[in-house]
Amino acid sequence: MTTPRATDAALDVPGLVARARAASGTDGRLAVGDIAGWDTFPFEREGLRMRALEDPVVPEPPRQDEDAATCGRCARTDEHFAWTDGTWRLSASSTVSVPSVILDRRAHGDLNDLDDDAAAELGRMIVRVERALAAVPGVGRVHVQRWGDGNGHLHVFFSARPEGMLQLRGLVMPLWTLHLPALPDEEWAAILASVVARLDAART
Ligand SMILES: [Zn+2]
Repeated sequence: MTTPRATDAALDVPGLVARARAASGTDGRLAVGDIAGWDTFPFEREGLRMRALEDPVVPEPPRQDEDAATCGRCARTDEHFAWTDGTWRLSASSTVSVPSVILDRRAHGDLNDLDDDAAAELGRMIVRVERALAAVPGVGRVHVQRWGDGNGHLHVFFSARPEGMLQLRGLVMPLWTLHLPALPDEEWAAILASVVARLDAART
């Protein structure tokens, strides 16, 4: 075998899809994987089946808020955010099933638009928000996610896993949180106020 050359690097998407289809059953569906047997998986295996794999869409359709001139996240005024400083804005939905906040960079751009200084600031802010949420009694762990598939303006999700709810560990927590009932308004408002107070205390 020859030594791989970095200049040959490419993800062969048609090849990936073809392999997946070859691995599918006669109904064109992949088998449900081991995840359905995880203690944390929110659904029981019986009756589960995979969706048929769709063809790749290339070029991909544009995301929302790709363009700074028409970006809805840029257009939101500070009053819509729970906490702001000169560079960052933190928002939260009025209804959540577990404590969850979203960190926006004030300036338009996505993750790969950040220069080294902005990247370092993002790292610092991720740690601050994580600490602020993790400090709330009853929070067992804080999950940090950046997806980027739906929107072109960088935003990072933070979700607090309730302490002791071990079924919500790891990547399945978003699936659980879509099914759990909403936190009482007053409980959520107090938690958010505590997060804001901790971020205020960490201002530099
Ligand atoms: Zn924007």
